[in-house]
Amino acid sequence: MKHNFGAGPGILPHEVLKQAAEGVVDFNGIGLSILEISHRSPEFEAVLAEAVKLVKELLNVPEGYSVLFLQGGASTQFALVPFNLLPQDGKAAYLETGVWANKALKEAKNFGNVEIIASSKADNFTYIPKDYTIPADASYFHITTNNTIYGTQLHEYPKSPVPMVADMSSDIFSHPINVADFGLIYAGAQKNMGPAGTTLVIVKNEILGKTGRTIPAMFDYPTQVEGGSMYNTPPVFAIYVSMLTLRWLKAKGGVEAIEKENKAKADALYVEIDRNPLFKAVCAKDDRSYMNVTFVCTNPEHEKAFLELCDEKDIVGVKGHRSVGGFRASIYNALPITSVHVLIDAMQEFAEKNK
Ligand code: PLP
Repeated sequence: MKHNFGAGPGILPHEVLKQAAEGVVDFNGIGLSILEISHRSPEFEAVLAEAVKLVKELLNVPEGYSVLFLQGGASTQFALVPFNLLPQDGKAAYLETGVWANKALKEAKNFGNVEIIASSKADNFTYIPKDYTIPADASYFHITTNNTIYGTQLHEYPKSPVPMVADMSSDIFSHPINVADFGLIYAGAQKNMGPAGTTLVIVKNEILGKTGRTIPAMFDYPTQVEGGSMYNTPPVFAIYVSMLTLRWLKAKGGVEAIEKENKAKADALYVEIDRNPLFKAVCAKDDRSYMNVTFVCTNPEHEKAFLELCDEKDIVGVKGHRSVGGFRASIYNALPITSVHVLIDAMQEFAEKNK
């Protein structure tokens, strides 16, 4: 098996992949594939119900929130959030912490006014701005909790006077959160939850239906809530594998237990980056991500050789995003700490060779 540090789609637990493979051939011994059964069958209804229940249990979702499994990726939510929450004469506040936040706010501009209340763009998004005021007259305030490309993460969430909307695509289920602090949370599945193809949305029901706008059914959250994520044929396989991954997470002890593992993995890697003279981190120390660890070679001429060494050691997916360069080790929930130690050993071997 390779050591998969890929950013997205990210690594899934090996046992989940095996169960999913079985389900593709013969789902629960019923003589049909998960890909063949009707989404209205009791078998799939049970899968969806369990997936929703696991999300509620793992994140302690309070009453008054709906859990949806939609399609179109997080990028579709960039538009659906303002479509559903931002009246044409209203204003939305955005914290600009990376390319994904920027894409989200650009979509919102198609629906109403957007105020970027703070941005780290001028510093290539190497830190999370903390000095800002959230306008009390905004319809909502949008954050990206983990910036997958740059390797920064909000380790504390602001207290918002207006509904807070969070893109949690790359750190959902990696640590406990207080859902009640948010009006809406969304996340593409393909990092910590399952395969690409479904997007989790957790929304506080009372913030919906206030824009006075007519919204096409597929893009209308209340329609999706009413249809229980089954207004049309849902992404059956992606929901099935997400459910299996959430089961795996629950069996491991849930988000509290995985947070400890994630911190141990990230801490070990950052210690090596800070110690090893051939590498250095690029982001502000306080804002370093526990999910995507970014770093560069102190001598950029070494980068190619280090990637070759990684290749030899079956370490895959560590090349940095094309807009940032260097390296990015994504250490999502399913990546075992043994893989992190293989990477650390490779960094040490590389330092020895290049003394
Ligand atoms: N938001 C964040 C934080 C991401 O990391 C990504 C993809 O990596 C996206 C949004 C876009 O997600 P999707 O490809 O599901 O539209």
